[in-house]
Amino acid sequence: MLSRAHALSSEAALRGNLSALAGHAGARLLLPVKANAYGHGLALVSRVAAAHPDVWGLAVATPREAAQVSALALGKPVVLLTPPTPDEMGPLADLGVRLPVGSLAEADALPAHARAHLKVDTGMNRLGARPEEAVAIGRRLAERGLLEGVYTHFATADEEDLSFAHEQLRRFRAVFSALPPVLAHCANGGGLLSLGRLDGMALARPGLASYGFAPPHLRGTVPLTPVMTLSATVTQVHTAHAGESVSYGGLWRAPRETTLATVGFGYADGYPRNATLKAQVLVRGERRPIIGRICMDQCMVDVTGLEVRPGEQVEFWGAQGLTVTEVAGWGETVEYEVLTGVGERVERGLVE
Ligand SMILES: *Cc1c(COP(=O)(O)O)cnc(C)c1O
Repeated sequence: MLSRAHALSSEAALRGNLSALAGHAGARLLLPVKANAYGHGLALVSRVAAAHPDVWGLAVATPREAAQVSALALGKPVVLLTPPTPDEMGPLADLGVRLPVGSLAEADALPAHARAHLKVDTGMNRLGARPEEAVAIGRRLAERGLLEGVYTHFATADEEDLSFAHEQLRRFRAVFSALPPVLAHCANGGGLLSLGRLDGMALARPGLASYGFAPPHLRGTVPLTPVMTLSATVTQVHTAHAGESVSYGGLWRAPRETTLATVGFGYADGYPRNATLKAQVLVRGERRPIIGRICMDQCMVDVTGLEVRPGEQVEFWGAQGLTVTEVAGWGETVEYEVLTGVGERVERGLVE
């Protein structure tokens, strides 16, 4: 109870999303838990997810995250999605972490006890081997008995125009059909929702969708429930008189006597500062505006007419229906950035 703000994740929502997504894909999930499980809490989410029958494994972005998930000893594979440096390969292989491979040099540098997922760059131009080089790398890994999976990543699968996603899929199929059978995976959340069942794909990697969010044109394809509820504590209630300004820069002036609640959640906790003068929060179930500049550690909410008291919780997004999507809109950003930006001071927890 020492934290001013709490990010509580609903186990039921997470489990339901995982089941629905796996069902739609006809595949098991390699669940992305990178970036502190999209802000929800790496260990909390990894434990719930690993106990889910539709989850094959957990995907992370950094060696540190890989070590943290491995230390939980959850009995499911951990896959690193970005290339390790040569000196990181041995320690990660010792932990059983599956390593991405995108070149012959990397394939040859892998220790004999490593397991590899061949990364094919089919058009994202970020990581992996080009399709024309990938087959040789995959065969080299297979000869050494190290090849467990092959994967690619879509650049535009969350957009309405899927022509480039289909082209990426065509390039990917050409590679994995030339390799011995291994676990193939390509779909992120956008790809999973828009492309549905994909022949030959054993796994899918929905991130944001698993946490409850779909691109606008794909909403309703699969029933998804937002997992996180973010609330923070009222620390003071006071009155601003007509004509007085509130917060840095005096951007807002009280048109009449206004009751203000000061709440312990600010941009250092991940609330977008760009949402200043646009954002709303839920106070006792009612939408109320944030007044004046959003500060580092706090913000002020117009609670005129409500008998709010210090110690009460105000909801910034979640169960009561104010969405991360709205917050992202006010903050001129995307749900990914709002969720992954939830700060270190915010206490994570699980609710049923
Ligand atoms: C982050 C990531 C995903 C998940 O993407 P979403 O858009 O959140 O579904 C899948 N695959 C890779 C390689 C990623 O880096």
